[in-house]
Amino acid sequence: MCGIVGYVGNSNCVPKLVKGLKTLEYRGYDSAGIAILKNEEIWVAKDKGRIHNLEDMIDYKDFVGTIGIAHTRWATHGIPSKNNAHPHMDQNKHFAVVHNGIIENYLELKEQLIMHGFSFQSETDTEVIPMLMEYYYQKDNDVFEAFKNTLNELKGSYAILIITPLLPNTILVAKKNSPLVVGKGNDGIYIASDIPAILEYTKDFFFLEDEEKAIINNDVTFYNEHFQEITKNAKYIDWEMDAIDKKGFEDYMLKEIHEQPEALGNTLNGIVGLDKAVRFVNFSLDKEYLEQLNHIYIVACGTAMHAGLVGKYSIEMLCRIPVDVEVASEFRYRNPIINANTLCIFISQSGETADTIAALKLARKRHAKTIAISNVFESSITREADHTIYTHAGPEIAVASTKAYISQVGLIVAFAVYMAEVLDKELELCHDIQKELLALPNYMEQIIENNEQYYELAKKIKNEHDLFYIGRGNDYYVAMEGSLKLKEISYIHSEAYPAGELKHGPIALVENGTFVFGIITDSNISEKTLSNLEEVKSRGANIILITNQNIKKEHVINIPNVHPILSPILSIIPLQFIAYFIAKEKGLDVDKPRNLAKSVTVE
Ligand code: GLU
Repeated sequence: MCGIVGYVGNSNCVPKLVKGLKTLEYRGYDSAGIAILKNEEIWVAKDKGRIHNLEDMIDYKDFVGTIGIAHTRWATHGIPSKNNAHPHMDQNKHFAVVHNGIIENYLELKEQLIMHGFSFQSETDTEVIPMLMEYYYQKDNDVFEAFKNTLNELKGSYAILIITPLLPNTILVAKKNSPLVVGKGNDGIYIASDIPAILEYTKDFFFLEDEEKAIINNDVTFYNEHFQEITKNAKYIDWEMDAIDKKGFEDYMLKEIHEQPEALGNTLNGIVGLDKAVRFVNFSLDKEYLEQLNHIYIVACGTAMHAGLVGKYSIEMLCRIPVDVEVASEFRYRNPIINANTLCIFISQSGETADTIAALKLARKRHAKTIAISNVFESSITREADHTIYTHAGPEIAVASTKAYISQVGLIVAFAVYMAEVLDKELELCHDIQKELLALPNYMEQIIENNEQYYELAKKIKNEHDLFYIGRGNDYYVAMEGSLKLKEISYIHSEAYPAGELKHGPIALVENGTFVFGIITDSNISEKTLSNLEEVKSRGANIILITNQNIKKEHVINIPNVHPILSPILSIIPLQFIAYFIAKEKGLDVDKPRNLAKSVTVE
């Protein structure tokens, strides 16, 4: 959460920092701020609200410097307000700090600092950092010692940038459980929470590992957890700037929905072919290993967890190995049963999801093999896991995930096929699925082209307060994802239920006019879900059916017929569109929904 940008070099940093913040705004957007050094003083501009508020308050002629740090906040401690916005400073204005993460022991530190005469301006946890820097600086008169001592005091997660007039050309950088990358450009050195913010200036990135630090001035010096100097190699990231452009679409989300066929195609490219079995680059599992597996866990959060559920469906059907899908924040604290015969798969678009990373560390400690599925190269999760398989959806900027979800589903199904083939199971079915996987991008295009009908539906639904989504098997998992999309961006409450479960309670909420989405893509159970839809219809519900079967109902959205293992990749698209159009009709900011942020780097 939150976006950080920093720059030190020989150009004016302010336009660069503002631009970087805008690129990172998807990570947090309740307040924003910049600190620069000018005339050996720290100058700060900050306020609550979006980056454009910040832009409006900056006097670009006067607010000029060649070193600066900037922040867009997703509040964890203290309301979004000017006082709580970053950067934060100590009372002597020696240190300005931007911070992403949570300082867990901040209350204790704050109390001690108050006892030493420090007075605080904000409710944030972050403010203890500049205060501690000042406290230690007063003791030893040494900024580096103050930096070391301050970091030693901090518990929790952080990506931190500090500037100080005491070292007018230097940015102090530290990272623990929150992402940070450093890039050397032609005119200076850049630091950011995420690659897109500085992609314009370089494609060679240094990725900081947990507890590493960097001192940045004319050059970068890296240090390990013990403050010993280390050498790090830059990694070349082959992303193009136009990947983070809206390309004429009104919103990133709409662009990303349209990019789904390409995202899936790129993800499967090289993994799935018709000629040979599914294979992964630099990664394989042998039959002996798979045969001794007693359990698979798929662990993730939010939309990625819904992709994991489709993974469970495919792996169990094709490989007959039991799979449990768990929310990472539960898994990590409930002492799960894991051992060397357990395979644990972790899915995170950003690769920085704090709970998922913590769950992964737990699984490794207990000797399970770990596989990460991520969309971001070299993200933290990929460095923790035994193996990584990348989705190639391209940068996803809209907070509500669409193309990353589709790519995760495609990838996990391909992975299920891979394991079944190694195990010599369901080979004919695997072959059919491979064939259909490759045909999916074309089918997806057809669904996307039909979007006029989704818009018409959205207009009918936009004033509703409660909706239901129901289905069985994979259709239920899609119902969950469709319901989440609606909540995320349109702020309409909805519930997803297994179709057969409705009458065990929630049907009491169905009344005249309640909208119920039914998803039916498996001919073996279509009659069952149909009966459940009839039950709600008898109680006055308006039914909207998404199906690949030949079913007549008042309102049907037809999608191409594929194997039920693959149907989520198609059936989710109308639901994404409907959520999108409802949010647009309500005049909401689709890309940056309230209270949310992409890349949830706090637990
Ligand atoms: N915990 C800090 C705050 O609430 C940082 C939040 C963030 O990562 O944006 O200000």
